[in-house]
Amino acid sequence: MPELPEVETIRRAVAPHLEGRVLDELRIDDPRWCQPLAPAELRAALEGRRLERLDRRGKYLIWRFEDEASLLVHLRMTGTLLLDPLAGTKYERVRFLFAGAGPEVAFCDPRRFGTGELALGDDALEAFLGARVGIEPFGDAFTGPALHALARGRRAPIKAFLLDQRRIAGVGNIYADEALFRARLHPLRAAGAITRPQAQELRDAVVTVLQLGLGAGGATIDDFRHPDGVEGAFQNDFLVHLRRGEPCVTCGTEVVKFVAAGRGTYACESCQRPPRGVRRHPRRAA
Ligand SMILES: [Zn+2]
Repeated sequence: MPELPEVETIRRAVAPHLEGRVLDELRIDDPRWCQPLAPAELRAALEGRRLERLDRRGKYLIWRFEDEASLLVHLRMTGTLLLDPLAGTKYERVRFLFAGAGPEVAFCDPRRFGTGELALGDDALEAFLGARVGIEPFGDAFTGPALHALARGRRAPIKAFLLDQRRIAGVGNIYADEALFRARLHPLRAAGAITRPQAQELRDAVVTVLQLGLGAGGATIDDFRHPDGVEGAFQNDFLVHLRRGEPCVTCGTEVVKFVAAGRGTYACESCQRPPRGVRRHPRRAA
């Protein structure tokens, strides 16, 4: 599933080709993409308008058209944007045709969970994001004390806390595992139990792994591709994620896999001590 680095990688690849151009035609082949809005309603709101900016908040791509009309695109499990794909490209659901010289863009999505939603007026846009998207990890407001304050009183495991988009935006399964390993925090530890220094370490680790992921053009472990078809490379730099049975890069203990927050989770239980009441998960070799 694309997380912040993957979505931002897509945004950076596509934005320079589209910003400033007028949307001539929005071809929606799959009405489920924009439901409950009918494709005709979405087309009426956006066609003929100039795309002023392509922004991102959390995992949302925000297509800001003139007159405060915004299209909010979420890639969900398998969505991506492709530049100038051939007609008949597999899994194409939507195509954006812009006026003037430059490429077309298609939204392709094998599993069809991706969405396109409309916000008319900047107040509506802020209300939409305010209800769904929390603090932006690359913003100035994301500090150790801010993370500590958000976690205070929460009994949920710290991993579930990191995955909750309404608190910290953009972190998904991969980057949560990698950040918790670097901060030496067990994924099942209660979010509210972390200390101020631990909150600072976790904040720094979240920013570090997201930056590393972005620098590598994201991670490709299943469908994710850049808009030109190239794969990301961050999967080659995972320290724990998908490394079950391999030795921890820090201490040599075997990395284990278990379920936390409903997701397959990887950790070194020597570096990331289980909280009281949680037994160590069995190692493969044992
Ligand atoms: Zn270790």
